[in-house]
Amino acid sequence: MEQLHPDTWAILHFGLIFLITLAQMTVVYVLSDASNPTPGLGLYTVYFMAALLGWIAFTLQQLADVPMVIDVPSVAAILNSYLLFLAAGERADMRRGRIVLGMICLGCSLSVFFVTPQRMWAVQTVTAAFFYANVAALCGWRAYRRRNVGDGITATAAAMMVIGVPVAHYQWLVAGEFGGAQAIVFGLHTATYVLVALGFLASVLIEYQQHLSQLSTQDPLTRLLNRRGLEVALQVTLAHAARQQSPTAAIMVDIDSFKEINDNFGHDTGDQVIREVARYLQQTTRGSDVVARTGGEEFLVILPETGLDGARQLAERMRRQIAETPLHVHNQSIPVTVSLGVAATTGEVDIDRLAQDADRAMYLAKRGGKNRVASVENKPIHLRTSVSPGQA
Ligand code: GH3
Ligand code: MG
Ligand code: MG
Repeated sequence: MEQLHPDTWAILHFGLIFLITLAQMTVVYVLSDASNPTPGLGLYTVYFMAALLGWIAFTLQQLADVPMVIDVPSVAAILNSYLLFLAAGERADMRRGRIVLGMICLGCSLSVFFVTPQRMWAVQTVTAAFFYANVAALCGWRAYRRRNVGDGITATAAAMMVIGVPVAHYQWLVAGEFGGAQAIVFGLHTATYVLVALGFLASVLIEYQQHLSQLSTQDPLTRLLNRRGLEVALQVTLAHAARQQSPTAAIMVDIDSFKEINDNFGHDTGDQVIREVARYLQQTTRGSDVVARTGGEEFLVILPETGLDGARQLAERMRRQIAETPLHVHNQSIPVTVSLGVAATTGEVDIDRLAQDADRAMYLAKRGGKNRVASVENKPIHLRTSVSPGQA
């Protein structure tokens, strides 16, 4: 069988790299939307395109019979590593050091006019390794903070460059093999490029998936959990309650006569009132409690390790504080009251059942004249309302 000519390898190599980049950028562009732009997309695109051009320059230099006037591939390698640093910084939302490293990049690139090609190769590999060290730090930090394996892949790729460069220099300076050292660095650049492409794509896909799963469990107006999010958040807590036979309580909160607030102050102000009540409920409850928006102006609060009496006291405190503090929205003072229904159970919790009981109690509070707390005890069903002091 005939062997492939090195030129054919070069074409295959670039064809492969080009297709990987094209496929990757297509996926990223299809996924990105104006309301949720992919951070760093523009700079990563510039990096991929510049890296391709660098490789083309490198092949032309290898194929040319006459040496190039200046070492374009070395300058391209330095610029690429700096571009990757900028892209990683933008994605990690850390823009510190851009100018200082930009000056270093400029200085090292300009040294192409003053040093021999071999020295330039040393300048290029060391400078690029320095920028890649920064890329590894930025991407590693982002991978840790965002729990994103994609950034971890990019960090690993950059770290490979940092580790590989001393090996290549050892090969050159100690073993005296410049060609071997060049081959190591060339291989490292290719592997890094492919891994950065994979890492960036994985990072974008993982982020997109995290965004979708957040959308399915979070209410966009208040950023509280929605009904589905509530169930997901309570899985561990409720299993614990069942094992320990501990009490769990629920408070259903409904804003009174909310239609009138919308009619009198406008829908936008109504939205803001919902946000303020949500914020208040979250501030008033403990970290282990779960607050969810279960309807338009309706909230469900689940209180683990809390019995009916404790929940009633908390509900009464919420009712009083909301009624006593008019909300200031868009320079208007809006009096808001809520009706609250409380239910509790012990041991295993049927969350639908508990929510229904709290809902029934809340309607009892509405029927009793609003701005009050009502409770329902689980089995046997017993409804009672409390009219607070100072009320009609
Ligand atoms: P009640 O005291 O009996 O609870 O009376 P209400 O007017 O609060 O209750 P009702 O269920 O009759 O009306 C709720 C209103 O809340 C109707 C709906 O237009 C409004 N609403 C639901 N979701 C939103 C929202 O996200 N933003 C705003 N501004 N209004 C909403
Ligand atoms: Mg209401
Ligand atoms: Mg309602």
